[in-house]
Amino acid sequence: MRLILLGPPGAGKGTQATRLVERYGIPQLSTGDMLRAAVAAGTPVGLKAKAVMESGGLVSDEIVVGIIRDRIAEPDAKKGFILDGFPRTVAQAEALDVMLKSEGLKLDAVIELVVDQSKLVARIVNRAAEAKAAGQPVRKDDDPEVFKTRLEAYNRDTAIVAPYYEKGGKLTKIDGMQAVDAVSAAIAKVLG
Ligand code: AMP
Repeated sequence: MRLILLGPPGAGKGTQATRLVERYGIPQLSTGDMLRAAVAAGTPVGLKAKAVMESGGLVSDEIVVGIIRDRIAEPDAKKGFILDGFPRTVAQAEALDVMLKSEGLKLDAVIELVVDQSKLVARIVNRAAEAKAAGQPVRKDDDPEVFKTRLEAYNRDTAIVAPYYEKGGKLTKIDGMQAVDAVSAAIAKVLG
């Protein structure tokens, strides 16, 4: 199973991806998680990405495509994967197409979590509060001001990725404002 989860920051992609990992036994490939790990480890990629991520902008296509290319080649991704936070631009989607085609692979589904953007800031504030209460680190970009910039980046560069897949007949839209379990059930129905 090769699957893409699309939707703005705070739409619930990460939450649903975690559930799908358990259900299908395939890894979640989150470019955000991988970039945060690179920043924490101080790798060359991390050093390049840090300031952009903290400001809420998008890291270059070249960097994220490179990260995904390496990650998809790992043994655990051979039986499938869930892409979470990638592709975020049409150029990334095109690069993914080329990558998959060269391996003779196809996507099984692209699911867009459709949400009411006016409710997302409240969700993100809640996510930060929950992380804090659980003693987990709070993401620097889960700050209301930075979040606005992330949403702008989504509307400018990423919103057009869903129509890209819609043209290819791969896209399914799901109401991401439902309760988490209802969203999971709707995704399960699409995946069969
Ligand atoms: P996320 O955890 O998916 O919200 O990503 C956190 C941040 O990492 C984003 O705001 C971007 O700065 C960067 N990032 C993650 N994935 C991508 C991507 N596919 N393309 C560009 N930047 C990305």
